[in-house]
Amino acid sequence: MAKIFCVANQKGGVGKTTTTVNLAAGLAKVGQRVLLVDLDPQGNATMGSGVDKRALEHSVYDVLLGEQGVAEAAVDTPKAGYRVLGANRELAGAEIELVNLPQRETRLKQALAEVAAQYDFILIDCPPALSLLTLNGLCAAHGVIVPMQCEYFALEGVTDLVNTIRQVHANLNPDLQIIGLLRVMFDARITLQAQVSEQLKAHFGDKVFDTVIPRNVRLAEAPSYGLPGVVFDGSARGSKAFVEFAREMVQRVQHM
Ligand code: ADP
Ligand code: MG
Repeated sequence: MAKIFCVANQKGGVGKTTTTVNLAAGLAKVGQRVLLVDLDPQGNATMGSGVDKRALEHSVYDVLLGEQGVAEAAVDTPKAGYRVLGANRELAGAEIELVNLPQRETRLKQALAEVAAQYDFILIDCPPALSLLTLNGLCAAHGVIVPMQCEYFALEGVTDLVNTIRQVHANLNPDLQIIGLLRVMFDARITLQAQVSEQLKAHFGDKVFDTVIPRNVRLAEAPSYGLPGVVFDGSARGSKAFVEFAREMVQRVQHM
């Protein structure tokens, strides 16, 4: 049965999509069966996996509205090694349409249950908001991966998310836990980043992943080629870090 993880942080531009796409590719590289679910109307994870969001026949939108099953709506990626349930602008409307539907928070959870046996990991890329879409991701997941940059206000930003996760855990999804905080775009030469990194470890202990993702331009270039960095340039430092992170995740799920 698949372990399901949300990659979430209500801030934009912190590395959610880069993490989702490269963790998916890293997991595929170490032999795991992976489904990536794009829950962001921007569709960046879809495009970054090599799937054209404008040409999607079906998307996560149809799945949330109950018009398609995941198995029919997901597509293979040509080179990335995993399957994608894609998203595009259409998904922006789902926020409003979902409000009046029954079980509006658990529609993704129900849909994923039908394919969970076919995968080892399902990764959900969340939009930068604590919206009904993100709530669907959190309700469907066993755990949350929180990418964050080691900046001055990083801890403060994470507090809101931690509180939301607590509420979802208490009211909607007792399975949900924070799997870990992932330090991304890290530059050890910047003293402040090293300090914040230490603070994070002091505050969150083993909820901070061992793997650190460095700032690496190859990871930023890869999406324009429709490839995860891990596939685009496997020898880049950032790509190696994501494969290592994939191994760390495989280890962690053995204890879940
Ligand atoms: P989010 O999904 O949280 O909005 P993205 O994953 O899209 O964030 O990342 C924001 C920007 O930072 C993108 O341009 C991306 O290519 C770049 N980026 C993300 N991670 C790294 C990294 N480790 N090194 C260099 N650039 C990165
Ligand atoms: Mg994103």
